[in-house]
Amino acid sequence: MNISVASIGEILWVIGIVAWYVVRYPFERRARRVRVMSSRRSPTDTVGLAAALLGLAIVPGLYVATGIPRFADYPALPWMVGLGALIFAMALWTFRRTHKALGRNWSISLEIREKHQLISNGPYALVRHPMYTSFLLMGIGQMFLLSNWVVGLAGILGFALLFFLRVGKEERLMLEFFGPEYRAYMDRTKRIIPYLY
Ligand code: SAH
Repeated sequence: MNISVASIGEILWVIGIVAWYVVRYPFERRARRVRVMSSRRSPTDTVGLAAALLGLAIVPGLYVATGIPRFADYPALPWMVGLGALIFAMALWTFRRTHKALGRNWSISLEIREKHQLISNGPYALVRHPMYTSFLLMGIGQMFLLSNWVVGLAGILGFALLFFLRVGKEERLMLEFFGPEYRAYMDRTKRIIPYLY
């Protein structure tokens, strides 16, 4: 059997995305049962979510299934696929830890749940938005696993749109709700990259 480096990257990406959903699914189910007290869902936020879905799932999924857009392919090298697998695994690990830490406070959009608690432990002790850190890692992992310029850019762009359309609003919502407690939390943490940003 002769399997190409590019195909190994594609198989690993598929395994990664399935694992992503296995982590997320129980929280989606549980979230339906926790009452929403205040919602800041907006059309802008829906655009961000759609961009992330497109860039991190639909564009790479279509690429793996059909090879489109083939013109943007470049040769896959073993070190790229290895690095991509490592970064994607880090993304999944971070993603799982953030879900465990947020628990019933998690929402797909901007919401305050009944008895919402400010979480500042585990990955939240290091940065304020570790779940978005995991999306960024996913985008970088995707870039290295799938050797196609369009697919690589799509993941990073999808992350960037979700993040920049949302993060200011999310922090304002948390400030409104948790006041000085969130202000103090902001003073001791960065947004997505520990000690940097
Ligand atoms: N931005 C965070 C959480 C993403 S989930 C991260 O990247 O890890 C989005 C929901 O989490 C929003 O509805 C918001 O109300 C809630 N949230 C964000 N930060 C929180 C925190 N530190 N504690 C509790 N809930 C938080």
